[in-house]
Formats: sequence, C-alpha cells, structure tokens
Amino acid sequence: MNTSLVDFHCHLDLYPDHPGVVAECEEKKIFALSVTTTPKAWPRNRQLAGATRYVRAALGLHPQLVSERANELAIWKEHLSETRYVGEVGLDAGPRFYRSLELQKKVFAEVLRECARHGDKILSVHTTRAAKTVLDMVETLLPPPRGRVVLHWFTGSIAEARRAIDLGCYFSINAEMVANQRHHDLVARLPIDRILTETDGPFTTVGSRPRRPTDVTLVIDSLSQCLRIDSARLSTHVYDNLRRLLQDEGSHTR
Ligand code: MN
Repeated sequence: MNTSLVDFHCHLDLYPDHPGVVAECEEKKIFALSVTTTPKAWPRNRQLAGATRYVRAALGLHPQLVSERANELAIWKEHLSETRYVGEVGLDAGPRFYRSLELQKKVFAEVLRECARHGDKILSVHTTRAAKTVLDMVETLLPPPRGRVVLHWFTGSIAEARRAIDLGCYFSINAEMVANQRHHDLVARLPIDRILTETDGPFTTVGSRPRRPTDVTLVIDSLSQCLRIDSARLSTHVYDNLRRLLQDEGSHTR
C-alpha cells in the first residue's frame, strides 16, 4: 500500500529553508497544507506551492496577530479568490491574547462571511479557549453547505467536539494532543472519518528540533495507539478523509 501522508496544518514559510521543506513534501508525497499567519506571506507561499503536486497554501490571518495586523484584512480579502484554502484563522482567548478577543471576533466573522460568499473554501481554524464561540460563529456564518472547517489542535470539551461533528467539522490532530492525557481522551472519542493529521511545525518540536512534515509519521504512530488501530489502516483512513474533504463540493480537487 502506498498511501500519502497528510500534514494538514504546518507553517512551511517559517522554516529557514522554505523551498527545501516544500521539496521534501513533494519528494516524500506528503500532502501538506501550508497555512500562513499574515496575508503578506501569501504570495510567496502561493508561488512555492503552485508548482507542486502535494503542497497547498492557505491564506490566513492568525488570531494571535490580529491586534497588530487587523488592517491586513483588506489584503486577505483581495487574495481570497486565488485559493480554496484559508488559514490560519480563528480565535485565541488564552491569557496572552484575550485583550484582542473582540477585535479577533470581528476579523473572524468577516473571514467566515467572505468564505460563505465565495463558497467551496476549506478552513484551518484555531480555537484556543474559544471553542464555543468559534462553533457559534461557524454555525451562523459558515454552515456546512457554504464551506468546510477543519479544527486545528482542538482542545475543547467532548460536548463541544460533538457539536463540531454535527456541524460537519474535521479535526487535524498532532502528537502533542495525543501526548496530553485530557486531550488524548477526547481524540480517542472522535469518529475516525473526521480525523486528519498535522504537525503544526515548526511550532512543535521533536527532541530539540522543530518538527517537519515528514514527522507526521510519528503522529500516525501515536494516534494509532490512541485509537487502537493499525497504523497502515489509520493512514488509509486519514488519506480517504482528506480526499472526501477535498471532493465534497464536487468540481475541483486541487
Ligand atoms: Mn499553527
């Protein structure tokens, strides 16, 4: 079996060798969603991903940067028609970013409205300490027929996860989630047909080095133990989930 691996949330532009890590994904046949943290990073990401078979770039405005960069929302809107993928976007109500939460909500609401207006977008969404608000906003502004939401590093409650499942959301799971006991229990209860894998590299590390998309094999290993399923079968599920997610709206798969 020769299934491709999936890293549905990584920041390829934040590695010192951006072109090298893109080439590595291509060579190892790793489907990588390269999310961006600011719309200004979009053109370079788009350029490097554009020539590949396995790498996609997502247009983002990271909630942790909203306090300084909310004015780049106009640039984000200008580029939106150039991509099917949006991220990293969402809300962060953790102590460091709580002060900008109202502004984050305004930006995220506008992101969801614009995605709904365009249609057929796939979003990688950050929900730190804000799962309920994110789900409320998705339900109102981007319900399932208008777009697809993948919750990145989801740490909400089991009840919130159930609600997300009902809203059609997918979950991209990383090794840190599986290593954390509380989140491990949540991950173990997710339906296998909603699971994708991610590294969130280079923000996560393995030993002392930043994780790379190739380290998604380690996510598969720990997740297969968590879900008590053979790792080859898990890889096949994840890849099937990715294909279903990308094909859901029919027409194009890129
Ligand atoms: Mn991230």
